Amino acid sequence: MAIAKRTFDVVVVGAGGSGMRAALQLAQAGLKVAVLSKVFPTRSHTVAAQGGIAASLGNVTEDNWLWHMYDTVKGSDYLGDQDAIEFMCRAAPEVVYELEHFGMPFDRLDSGKIYQRPFGGHMQSFGKNPVQRACAAADRTGHAMLHTLYQQNVKANTNFFVEWMALDLIRNAEGDVLGVTAMEIETGETMIFHARATLFATGGAGRIFASSTNAFINTGDGLGMAARAGIPLEDMEFYQFHPTGVYGAGVLITEGVRGEGGYLVNKDGERFMPKYAPNAKDLASRDVVSRAMTIEINEGRGCGPNADHVMLKLDHLGEDVIKQRLPGIREIALKFAHVDPAKAPIPVVPTAHYMMGGIPTNFHGQVVAPYKTGPDEVVHGLYAVGECACVSVHGANRLGCNSLLDLLVFGREAGRQIIEDLKSNPHVKPLPADAGDYSLARLARLENQKNGESVAEVGAAMRKVMQKHCGVFRFPELLIEGVSQIKEVAARVANTEIGDKSRVFNTARIEALELDNLIEVAQATMIAAEARKESRGAHAREDYQERDDVNWLKHSLYFKEGYRLDYKPVRLKPLTVDSFPLKARSY
Ligand SMILES: Cc1cc2nc3c(=O)[nH]c(=O)nc-3n(C[C@H](O)[C@H](O)[C@H](O)COP(=O)(O)OP(=O)(O)OC[C@H]3O[C@@H](n4cnc5c(N)ncnc54)[C@H](O)[C@@H]3O)c2cc1C
Repeated sequence: MAIAKRTFDVVVVGAGGSGMRAALQLAQAGLKVAVLSKVFPTRSHTVAAQGGIAASLGNVTEDNWLWHMYDTVKGSDYLGDQDAIEFMCRAAPEVVYELEHFGMPFDRLDSGKIYQRPFGGHMQSFGKNPVQRACAAADRTGHAMLHTLYQQNVKANTNFFVEWMALDLIRNAEGDVLGVTAMEIETGETMIFHARATLFATGGAGRIFASSTNAFINTGDGLGMAARAGIPLEDMEFYQFHPTGVYGAGVLITEGVRGEGGYLVNKDGERFMPKYAPNAKDLASRDVVSRAMTIEINEGRGCGPNADHVMLKLDHLGEDVIKQRLPGIREIALKFAHVDPAKAPIPVVPTAHYMMGGIPTNFHGQVVAPYKTGPDEVVHGLYAVGECACVSVHGANRLGCNSLLDLLVFGREAGRQIIEDLKSNPHVKPLPADAGDYSLARLARLENQKNGESVAEVGAAMRKVMQKHCGVFRFPELLIEGVSQIKEVAARVANTEIGDKSRVFNTARIEALELDNLIEVAQATMIAAEARKESRGAHAREDYQERDDVNWLKHSLYFKEGYRLDYKPVRLKPLTVDSFPLKARSY
């Protein structure tokens, strides 16, 4: 079947913070850029980011990019690559000021400078005491940032393809990437976006879990497309559970609440975090706080009739602080927990939040994978940034506010690198004769499937398996069972059916295509988690409770073909400073 084609210099898949920061760089350089998004750009998940962007501006308390680097390395439980971390922390103040000059409406101090608040794991003087490093626009930082970047892109003439879903990568016989196939959601029309460079910025995949802070569109599409095209996925076993999702709803309550002075209590009203993290207390790293909460609940000190959550107390902050600094949180608490946080505590539980793993890249955004001649090569034509990429700056556990920073730093850097690479690659390479056939076959399968299972049921089965078998604490038997169960669910995904085609709205097709991507992420996560026999960052095993730097200080690489796992070393050497040596991690 024929498929229409359009040609661009660069196709960017994803209009969140990372995709729009990269697109801006490219469009300003005069390149012809197409940005595809499943939703209107300003509805991408970046819009939901609440707490802030990390940068050592030192506007309130003294700060230094090297302290930020230390916190990030420690936060990553030493799995982060120190060259990339240095690159990011050094660039942080610059990208924040740049954003300010794009028109970002940050909150202000009386001095007129950008307001900064404390956040988990942000410390002064190499881990000594909390520092105010999170640059914030109330509790709607992502909203302000995404709108700012969208306006700048409109000004720079970026071409937006709104409500278009990318389906698959196109590679030629050499493995070079030549663009993507995509479908217009409203009409079902398919098209090839043929390009000299393809950038994935498709965000996270929180929807592999039953309880998640993520938007419904966060279905790991970039990872699914990469995995199907033979590209490995890195460090997938590390999924961050945010300590404070609203109990029963999953909606996020930012760590900024604890930054402003809120704290967690158990059923006895005891503030328990000082027991687990005497120094940082409620502002310890997220993995540490989530585990402490889970222990409180498991040992019978949880709240409510089922003793299955704890409470976040902020009434002592006073109505004025809550209304001025945390207006969105007040609204969420009222709507989803039916409490006024100025009067009563908010019920919370650890909730799946952020994917540390992703498509392997270097710190220029170039995808690095086994390719023509060696195991660690730049894949010609393919780039990835944002949550779908693994640079790796977050290692085994991301620090709060380092994701928005990652979007800006690596979005800009990938843009710069693409401009550079395209100078020596002035023409689009020809498409292979069968370009598009693979996607058309997937769509035809959906149209022709008879007596299949419903997409919703199989999706629910996947989320249930992930939630039970791959949570905050991981148990050996549950992981082994989880691997076989998730493979069984994957077999069911291949036989899903979308119902009566004459009546079905196109979103049913979209949900089926999204499930194809989610199941790739779910399998990679479970299989890599079962294989890693240590506890590090967000990966906490009951049978191997210690970090094992002798055997496991390495990144995992998961290949879809044969469920194969491989490993590669962590880059411990920064660019210009000395390495931070491995230490036991305490807060
Ligand atoms: C509730 C919440 C609060 C957070 N708060 C903070 C915070 O305060 N500070 C911080 O640093 N981090 C925070 N994070 C994390 C951070 O917001 C995200 O990691 C980050 O915004 C992801 O940005 P992104 O550009 O990678 O992707 P996203 O913003 O998720 O955008 C993904 C884009 O890809 C598009 N897309 C996906 N698949 C396809 C496809 N197949 N075809 C076409 N388009 C596609 C989507 O339409 C969308 O435009 C928070 C996350 C959540 C969920």
